Amino acid sequence: MKTMAKEEEEDHLPDKDAAKGFYAKYEMKEILGKGISSTVRRCIEKETGREYAAKIIDLSTETEEGASSYEAVKQEISILRHVAGHPYIIELQDVFESSTFIFLVFELCKHGELFDYLTSVVTLSEKKTRYIMRQVFEGLEHIHSCGIVHRDLKPENILLDDNLNVKITDFGFAKKLAPGEQLFDLCGTPGYLAPETLRTNMLEDAPGYSYHIDIWACGVIMYTLLVGCPPFWHRKQMIMLRNIMEGKYSFTSPEWADVSESPKDLIRKLLVVDPNKRISLGEALRHPFFLSVVSFENFIYFILMRFSVTERN
Ligand code: ADP
Ligand code: MG
Repeated sequence: MKTMAKEEEEDHLPDKDAAKGFYAKYEMKEILGKGISSTVRRCIEKETGREYAAKIIDLSTETEEGASSYEAVKQEISILRHVAGHPYIIELQDVFESSTFIFLVFELCKHGELFDYLTSVVTLSEKKTRYIMRQVFEGLEHIHSCGIVHRDLKPENILLDDNLNVKITDFGFAKKLAPGEQLFDLCGTPGYLAPETLRTNMLEDAPGYSYHIDIWACGVIMYTLLVGCPPFWHRKQMIMLRNIMEGKYSFTSPEWADVSESPKDLIRKLLVVDPNKRISLGEALRHPFFLSVVSFENFIYFILMRFSVTERN
């Protein structure tokens, strides 16, 4: 059986028997999700009975939007291997390829997309948002430290495992950057696009964009988690894109009345139009929003203090 892991860097033609290889090793089950260029199904490894998620990419149906070329998938695989080994990033288990299909076998995230979880609960509490966003920031910090920009961060591409821990996935638009490299192409999902991505595509002399676009997307995600609707949404897409470029959003909807100041302050620092003035991931993780939880040490200290006061009385 030929898997790409064994001949990683070899530029070989797709193996016609590899699809058979996949079916020999895994039993295919129900559909878990669909993207523009793929179908993801639960599968079971026959030998162990362990469950996985297989992303099946059809190379023969190349559409305008879903340009799933062989090279693009090879790049996705190479990036997945590069960022592997972090608790908040999806693990690629196995790869099979045939002349028309590529199968990417991932660890299974039983709780599916953060998007569906949010839809089911409508809004997340500050505590849950803190739990999720800390993991998203930490995972993203690792991705950036590998010299990679994700470019499609959104609740559909953030999966939740058995323990409701985050697994960042879908590196289909991700790109490895050379030091100081700027990007110019338009890709991602409209509501999550950063102002500089839009500027790059609208203005002749725009300087391009880089890692900061993922931090902007985190701002859009965090806003959406807390109130259940995105910050720049407008039924007319042109107006939504203009709102993004101008950084025009508000905390005026009634849902925001119940949200404290600290998450709002962090969102304000994430959704800064000028990428150079936007908060960094390290700063975001040190923001008071993440420090407002009583640490275990503080908790014990508090209990001991109370205990000694009671004793003296
Ligand atoms: P695309 O590049 O086509 O968007 P994704 O990698 O985002 O493909 O996968 C599409 C969808 O499939 C996800 O949004 C999710 O619903 C589901 N999915 C993907 N990977 C897994 C996984 N490891 N466990 C559970 N569901 C998954
Ligand atoms: Mg996706």
